Amino acid sequence: MAKPGPPSAPAQLAELWARVRGRLRNEVGEVEYRTWLRQLTLIGVDGEEVAVSLPTRFLCDWVRTHHGDMLLGFWQAEIPEIRRIEFRVVPEKAAEPSPGRAGPLTPAPEPRVENRPDWSASLDPRFTFDTFVVGKPNEFAHACARRVAEKPASAGFNPLFLYGGVGLGKTHLMHAIAWAIREHGNGDGRKPMTVAYMSAEKFMYRFIGALRTGQTMEFKEALRGVEVLLVDDLQFLIGKDNTQEEFFHTFNALVDAGRQIVVSSDKPPAELAGIEDRLRTRLGCGMLADIHATTYELRLSILESKAAQAGVVVPPKVQELLAHKITANVRELEGALNKLVAHANLFGRAITLESVHDLLGDIWRQYDRKVTIDEIQKKVAEHYKIRLSDMSSPRRARNVARPRQVAMYLSKQLTTRSLPEIGRRFGGRDHTTVMHAVSRVAELMQQDSAFAEDVELLRRMLEG
Ligand code: ADP
Ligand code: MG
Repeated sequence: MAKPGPPSAPAQLAELWARVRGRLRNEVGEVEYRTWLRQLTLIGVDGEEVAVSLPTRFLCDWVRTHHGDMLLGFWQAEIPEIRRIEFRVVPEKAAEPSPGRAGPLTPAPEPRVENRPDWSASLDPRFTFDTFVVGKPNEFAHACARRVAEKPASAGFNPLFLYGGVGLGKTHLMHAIAWAIREHGNGDGRKPMTVAYMSAEKFMYRFIGALRTGQTMEFKEALRGVEVLLVDDLQFLIGKDNTQEEFFHTFNALVDAGRQIVVSSDKPPAELAGIEDRLRTRLGCGMLADIHATTYELRLSILESKAAQAGVVVPPKVQELLAHKITANVRELEGALNKLVAHANLFGRAITLESVHDLLGDIWRQYDRKVTIDEIQKKVAEHYKIRLSDMSSPRRARNVARPRQVAMYLSKQLTTRSLPEIGRRFGGRDHTTVMHAVSRVAELMQQDSAFAEDVELLRRMLEG
């Protein structure tokens, strides 16, 4: 145990620092550690403050936001007096430890970009076309995905941009494309194609990792060598300028070379605020395919298919009940079914309507009349034919401000959210703005019966 009070001898300090680094490494894992923390260098301890350095501003900001608290905690465990961590930008050469100064004790080996990276190691074997249930809400996206899998890079389908809400099958379709292409190549008998699948976040980690280790050339070359690139959840690149820039160049290089790109996102390109215009334009110039919210019929078919896959008998009445109640997305529907199946398997009992109520009671309660602010915003925007993004935009024109007020009013009426919470969800507005909206809408409903009917209609649709 460290004695209280700042240690004076450099050797003792170095030992503390080694312990702190060891704990950080344990906590964040090897990959994260090597990517972000390997070059973290101790400058010194002065009273309540520990000074550390990293070679770039970007790294400092990243480590401070993502690991700053943890770092402080580990230091405090060694020296309770420590109150602050000061991050300084010290370019690489200057930060090299000199004799007599505490520095990294166990320099990690340089991470290398593998010669033949496996870009699709994270594909889920369950996500294939065989297991994807097609229905009205996803038939177009599914057809496009099939088409791309059969004939990558055909005109009009490049890039393929899949978008839709969470849990509706975007990742499933992307993996299905990757599996199909890996298996069958491009159909004309050529060797299997190289497929790279990664989330936009992973793309960013890898790119920044490469930047830091001076291996951007390897990164670029490896990526530009693939025949199909699938990037999932592109919305995570919002505001990440460097990474967007790199993605844009990779994108262009691949499309120009006749390779296929598939991108997914929770919104269409036009609504991705924080994406550079030129990238947005290119993203939108292939095929846009949206996956709509599930319908009762689709939910029912998915349940049938998943129950059959699990080899469990789920009575039709139970399937109907689940399809009726669990409407948010496929992921939740699957979760509920899995719970039933697990129970049936564990206890060897049949699934019945009664057991469903027992098992899923808490889920029901959560669903009973539970309308989300997202749904309200979406319905109201649709109804008044304004953009969803206007719900949180600063625009004050009457034609968007009024619907926004209606949505705030309904959020207050139909959810248990507080005024400040509602305000946050509407572009970070103040709770007094929400309060004003609520009373204004109530007032207008008194005065204008057509308006009142409109709002009532929306309320009924939302309560479903
Ligand atoms: P997203 O990426 O759009 O958030 P996912 O692709 O991860 O959603 O889907 C969530 C879960 O629902 C996955 O387990 C997926 O297999 C399943 N799923 C979604 N849509 C379908 C579908 N049409 N048929 C079968 N399973 C589906
Ligand atoms: Mg996904």
